[in-house]
Amino acid sequence: MNILEAKKEVLDVAKKAHQEKLVAGTSGNVSIYLKSKDLVVITPSSIPYASMKDSDISVITLDGKVVDGKHSPSSEWPMHTEIYRKLEKECALVHTHSPYATSFAVCNEGIPEILIEMKPFIGGDIKVVPFAPAGSQELGEITAPFLIDRNACLLANHGTLSVGDNLEKAFFSSIYLEDAAKIYHLAKSVGNPRII
Ligand SMILES: [Zn+2]
Repeated sequence: MNILEAKKEVLDVAKKAHQEKLVAGTSGNVSIYLKSKDLVVITPSSIPYASMKDSDISVITLDGKVVDGKHSPSSEWPMHTEIYRKLEKECALVHTHSPYATSFAVCNEGIPEILIEMKPFIGGDIKVVPFAPAGSQELGEITAPFLIDRNACLLANHGTLSVGDNLEKAFFSSIYLEDAAKIYHLAKSVGNPRII
């Protein structure tokens, strides 16, 4: 994948995440790590999704140096680059503040494996990463181990993070995470959800 293709994919998934209401305002961010180039293609900071163009997408090194793009990268870039450093493979990340999943993140409560889709799309139950400041390298450091045998996790008092071999897979994980959180929330109000 070349940089232009990666920019178009980042833009496409960022807009879809906004349309699906996984992100509000300019929150959330999306990135792809191009391992062969050792570069990260990431959404810019504070640009509304509706008017975002592929030329607005930033390209940075793992140290955060902007090599292409007219805007600053998302303020949460240190979390993305630290996770790519730790996972050491070509992959992609989707970070959202999707409301149902983030409600569980705010309560520091994980989501048990309650749906058949959770195993193939997420890898099992959804765990909560302990709190660290948004945008910090520390948050990336403590989150990376949660993304080794799972494709998604909750960030305490913050939001969600999903990983995939490609951006489409990471996006689907974020959709299934929000879906599981919504169903778990409703099931808890109906009765006692049973774990698979
Ligand atoms: Zn965030």
